[in-house]
Amino acid sequence: MSAATAGDAPAVAWETVIGLEVHAELRTATKLFCGCRNSFGEEPNTNVCPVCLGLPGSLPVLNKAAVEYAMRIGSALHCGIQASIFHRKNYFYPDMPKDYQISQYDVPINVDGWLELSGGERIGIVRAHLEEDTGKTTHVGGGGRIHEAGYSLVDFNRAGVPLVEIVSAPDIRSSEQARSYVEELRAILVATGASDGKMEEGSLRVDANVSVRPAGSGGFGTRCEIKNMNSLRSLGRAIEYEAARQVAVVQGGGEVVQETRHWDEAAGRTGSMRSKEEAYDYRYFPEPDLVPVDPGEAWISAVASALPPLPASRRAAVAGASGMDASSDAVATVVRLGLDPFVEAVAGGPGSRENVAAIAVRRLANEVAAEIDSVGRLSPASFAALVRMEADGSLTAAQSRTVLKELLASGGEPKEVAGRLGFEAMAAGDLEAVVEEVIAAHPEEWARFLAGEDKLTGFFVGHIKVATEGRANLGAASALLRALRG
Ligand code: ADP
Ligand code: MG
Ligand code: ZN
Repeated sequence: MSAATAGDAPAVAWETVIGLEVHAELRTATKLFCGCRNSFGEEPNTNVCPVCLGLPGSLPVLNKAAVEYAMRIGSALHCGIQASIFHRKNYFYPDMPKDYQISQYDVPINVDGWLELSGGERIGIVRAHLEEDTGKTTHVGGGGRIHEAGYSLVDFNRAGVPLVEIVSAPDIRSSEQARSYVEELRAILVATGASDGKMEEGSLRVDANVSVRPAGSGGFGTRCEIKNMNSLRSLGRAIEYEAARQVAVVQGGGEVVQETRHWDEAAGRTGSMRSKEEAYDYRYFPEPDLVPVDPGEAWISAVASALPPLPASRRAAVAGASGMDASSDAVATVVRLGLDPFVEAVAGGPGSRENVAAIAVRRLANEVAAEIDSVGRLSPASFAALVRMEADGSLTAAQSRTVLKELLASGGEPKEVAGRLGFEAMAAGDLEAVVEEVIAAHPEEWARFLAGEDKLTGFFVGHIKVATEGRANLGAASALLRALRG
C-alpha cells in the first residue's frame, strides 16, 4: 500500500495483514449426517429428512466419505491429521433448523499445515475442520437485501451438506497474494477430488480477515472479517477497499473496531454487519450424539499415499524438466491449465533436453494459453516436433509461433504447415557466414564482447536479425556468438 502522511508526522507505509477462512463443500453423494442427496440446484426442499431438518428425536450418523475427503484436504495441506471431536455451535438463524451447527471446535481433524503459492511463498494453515452447511435463505424483493425484502424463502437442501473450513494463518500480505492463495487452494481441492471448487455455485466461499499495521512493525492491528465475496475479483476489491478504510480510520485518529463487515459488490465498499462474536456467544459443547472420530494410522497413511500429484509438485516437475524457475509465471500457467503432459512429451524425446523443454514451456504459457479452447487440436507429438524444429534452428522463434497458431487453429503437422507458410530452414552454415560478416563489420564491439561485455550479445543478435531479414533463429545465433568467444 502506498505511503501516506498525517499532518506533520513522517510518512508511514502501511502493510496489510490477511488471514482467510475458506469453506469448501465436499463432493460426497450424501449429506454429512444423513442419507439425503448432496446436490446443487435442485427443486427447493426436496433433499431433506428429519435429521437435516432438525426434527426432535432424529440422530446424526457420520458420513465416512466426508471424513476421507477432509483427510485428503488435510494431507494435501501438510496438516497433522488427528482424532477429533464434534461440537455444537449454538446460534439462531432461520436457515439452520436445529438452531445449532455441528462443527469442530478445539479438537479439529486437521491442524498445523501449510500451502505453497505458485510464487513459492508458504502460507500457514491453522486448521481445516469438518462441519455441516446451513440452508439457504432468499430475500425476495428489495434487491435481495433482508431489511428491504417483502418476504424470505428458505431452502433446506443445503442444510447438512458437508463442509471443510480451512483457516489460514495471518501470513497473507496483499490482495494479489490472497487471490493467489484461493486459486492454489481451489486447485488442490479439485485435484484431491474433495470439492468441485466452484465459487459461482457457492461450493467455495471465502471470508477475509483484514488488518493494517505500519510496515515493518511486528504486532498485529485490530482485524475486521469481510463476508460475501463471491469471486476472486471481489475478494481482491474488498481487501483493497477495507485496508484503505482502516488506514484512513487510524490516520484520522480513530481506532479500528473488530467487527464483521459485508462486501457490497455494486457499491464497491464494505459496510458494518454485526459486532464480532466471541466463542462464548456460541455456547460450544461436545455433540452428545456423536462419538469422537479417530481415523487411525493405517487410514491416514492410505489417504496420504493415494493423493494425486498436486500443483506444487507438478510445478516442480515442469521446472526440473525445463530448467526454469518453479515459481515463474510461465510454469504456473502451464500447470494451472493442465498443459504439463505437453512438456513431458517434449522432455522425453531427443535433443538438448532442457533447452527443448524450456522452449515448450514458453510456447505453452504464451501461444497455447492464449488459445486454450483450441488445445484439443494440438497433439503432443506435433507440438513436440514443432518445439524441436525451433530448438534445432530450422524455425525462428517468430516462425515457430506462427506455425503453432496455425496448428491450434486448424491442426496438422508442423513440417507441412511450415512448408505451406514458406518458412524455409536457414542452413546452419548460412547462419555462420552471416555471423562472421556481422563480426567483421563491427571489430570494436567484437573486441569488447570478447573482453566479457555480455550485453553486446543483443547488439550482435540485432544485426544478425537485420542481415537475415528475420530468418535466423536468434537463440541459435547467440549460442554461436558464445561458441566463437570460446
Ligand atoms: P476467531 O476464532 O475469532 O475466528 P481466529 O484466531 O480463529 O479467530 O482467526 C480467524 C482468522 O483471522 C484466521 O484466518 C487468522 O489468520 C485471521 N487473523 C487473526 N488475527 C488477524 C489479524 N490481526 N489480521 C488479519 N487476520 C487475522
Ligand atoms: Mg473463525
Ligand atoms: Zn437429511
